[in-house]
Amino acid sequence: MIHRAAILAVGSELLTPSRIDTNSLAITEQLDRLGIAVACKAVVGDDRDELAAAVRTALGRVDLLVCCGGLGPTDDDLTREVVASVMGKPLSEDARIVSRIEARFAARGIAMPAINRRQAMVPQGASVLDNANGTAPGLWIEDGAHCVLLLPGPPRELKPMLASCVESFLAPRASGVSLQRRVVRITNRTESQTDETLQPLYARWARQAVPVAATILASLGQIELHVSARAASRTDAQRAVDEAAREIGEVLGDDVFSLDGRLLEEVVGDLLVTGGFRIAVAESCTGGLLTSRLTDIAGSSRYVECGVVAYANAAKVSLLGVSESLIAVEGAVSEPVAVAMAEGVRKGAGVEVGIGVTGIAGPGGGSATKPVGTVAVAVAIPGETGSRTFRFVGDREQVKYQASQAALDMTRRMLLARPRS
Ligand code: AMP
Ligand code: MG
Repeated sequence: MIHRAAILAVGSELLTPSRIDTNSLAITEQLDRLGIAVACKAVVGDDRDELAAAVRTALGRVDLLVCCGGLGPTDDDLTREVVASVMGKPLSEDARIVSRIEARFAARGIAMPAINRRQAMVPQGASVLDNANGTAPGLWIEDGAHCVLLLPGPPRELKPMLASCVESFLAPRASGVSLQRRVVRITNRTESQTDETLQPLYARWARQAVPVAATILASLGQIELHVSARAASRTDAQRAVDEAAREIGEVLGDDVFSLDGRLLEEVVGDLLVTGGFRIAVAESCTGGLLTSRLTDIAGSSRYVECGVVAYANAAKVSLLGVSESLIAVEGAVSEPVAVAMAEGVRKGAGVEVGIGVTGIAGPGGGSATKPVGTVAVAVAIPGETGSRTFRFVGDREQVKYQASQAALDMTRRMLLARPRS
């Protein structure tokens, strides 16, 4: 029975600043579903000693080791050899694999290079996993205490192989315990504040029949709470995380924008659809980011009318109808100008909802009264226009992102609070 797993991503490129290990996320997703806990994961270069040490350590701690990468034909592809050697399994050539690789090359009109024979080496007793998208077959190796799964590095080769392996090898050996997760997203609170407020819930969740674990993650403009539960039945685990999410919603109120992993731009989109509204956006300092985020959501054409990037003052006047004197009196970064932008773009587009964003993203352009990070946001919905000034901390990119987040969140809150007829 498999309870705990380790993942090893193999490849020297994964130790450079230019490549990131994403395979372990896909692997974790599958293991989660089977209730197999990922106890640890690591990235190892194409180095015989490092790899052998990592494999040895992992095998001493878990019952399933999943390795990805290093199954290629070249000298730096060592996973197969090293794992076989650590497990004490001699390798021998599998004629079926050789002919399959030969056929792959023949289909492209090329003779198989001799080095590809390495990919046909199979540890004693291992099962070979077909690779529909490449030459490197995967391997399933089992001895008394451990199962080891070797998968190729390229994600498009790994994923289908992993899916078929789940069915044929992993599911029958999993305990049947189900792990369910849920992501709750929150705005307008700090990480420590949220954690403190939720402590009583955590304490109770830890003691209940199906315990719920929570991890808090802060990112720019939002806090995420990941809640998870393990139970013998999928229904029980699901019920426990659903209930936990509901309780978080009760305690934090409108600061929770999503109990089901939806993004803020998605939530705003859903509210617009519910209200039967279309939206137009006037952006200065965010330079189109807000419209870009809204249109990242599939189906956003149902509610996005247009986005206008009015960066220069003259553009705010000519494209949005903001009055020149208003800009002269209040300054381009001010709530009255944000309001004029929101109402101007809404009127021009002939829609129900308008947003205006104007601010100082930095690093230059700040003053004593309006330092870098000052952003004015206005949202116009039917019957009401609201505005607020924010002071964000961070570099240019961070200020822009936080401004887009604040504008989306203001829109969400106003749509939620809107008096219904
Ligand atoms: P390999 O099986 O080691 O020959 O891997 C071939 C290619 O797969 C690498 O150059 C990467 O582009 C990709 N790759 C390998 N490992 C990973 C990983 N852990 N996550 C994402 N891509 C990977
Ligand atoms: Mg490699």
